[in-house]
Amino acid sequence: MKKLFIISLLVPLWVWAALAPNQLTVIDGRGGARITETVTFDKEEYLSLADLSASWNAQAAWSELIGNADLKLPGHTLRFSADNTFFLADGKSYNLFNPARLYQGELYVPMELFTRFLIPLWGRSIIWDSKDRKLSLGGISPEQIKIPEARRRKQVQAKQGIQKVVVDPGHGGKDPGAVGPTGLCEKDVNLEIALMLKAILEQEHNLIVVMTRSDDTFIPLGERTKLANQEAADVFISIHCNAAPRKKVKLKTMRGSETYFLSLAKTDDARATAAMENSAIDFEQPQKNVAHQDAVQFILWDMVQNEFLTESSDLAELVQESLARKLPAVPNRGINQAGFYVLNGAYMPAILVETAFISHRDEEKLLKKPDNLKKIARGIADGLEAFAKKYKKELGQ
Ligand SMILES: [Zn+2]
Repeated sequence: MKKLFIISLLVPLWVWAALAPNQLTVIDGRGGARITETVTFDKEEYLSLADLSASWNAQAAWSELIGNADLKLPGHTLRFSADNTFFLADGKSYNLFNPARLYQGELYVPMELFTRFLIPLWGRSIIWDSKDRKLSLGGISPEQIKIPEARRRKQVQAKQGIQKVVVDPGHGGKDPGAVGPTGLCEKDVNLEIALMLKAILEQEHNLIVVMTRSDDTFIPLGERTKLANQEAADVFISIHCNAAPRKKVKLKTMRGSETYFLSLAKTDDARATAAMENSAIDFEQPQKNVAHQDAVQFILWDMVQNEFLTESSDLAELVQESLARKLPAVPNRGINQAGFYVLNGAYMPAILVETAFISHRDEEKLLKKPDNLKKIARGIADGLEAFAKKYKKELGQ
């Protein structure tokens, strides 16, 4: 009798307990197992953050005021926000397919968090066995965090000012971008301006310029910032032309240049612009419905988190100012913020310049003239120079 009792203590409970479809076994860092119930939303299975933190022996704090939940592990912090597909792992943002959800007063995170992100990020310590429905959380030590190469080098470079710039001509290849009333393609205008900008920055400012594309090729959005991060660039500039929604009045009235930095879209127009630029995703994943989610889905984390927010908005302001000065024929729409997919994940000040409305008859005409494109390129270069000076001053050089 006594013997049997000991055995039953040694063999974890889950061997006997047949798991219901909405249950899984979580194994914590010390080998302890507990059965947890999951909830399914939109065919995706979710775990509650409270259960997760109990298994991880972590602290979870949900701030109703800010709408954020932090999960603090030794050496790691995860931050989620209800209805947001973005989450932060150790300060870097990642985009889930399914948002974290608030359900019965608790925050739930989708299982893809483990399979798509934490397992690749944190290595073998986390294992999901979908057949036996076992999630091993493992022991997590700080050494296992991978600091992206770009950021590490960035810290070294911080005192040297701006040296390397990534110039990103929007769209390309099978993605023409917006198309003007007489058929001018945004991708071609973007490329022309970008090549002019590259020449100015290299020849007159002695900067290293990395182009995301130098010809009419299709480059997925995510690849663009990835390249910028790999190159450990100091600044990321994406070049585009704007387009009005296909309504007669708007096509006639909407015009001007504006510069965006990545953040929450503040206005409907900004949201619409972001939705349009983000729709390049359509060309990457035609089978998935990503682009048709509201543009808000692409909104990056509450950007108060972003260490480059101030720099990005400064850069946007200086570029927009000098752009408007160089080409007064195009009205100045100022700076704006929205959730651009292409800017997401950039570890550096990043802006997206909408040089003019290609959908507006006069502005399309203007964009056909190389002289004007040169002025736009110069406007951007001047703005960048002003930013570089300001940045250097702040570093005390
Ligand atoms: Zn565009």
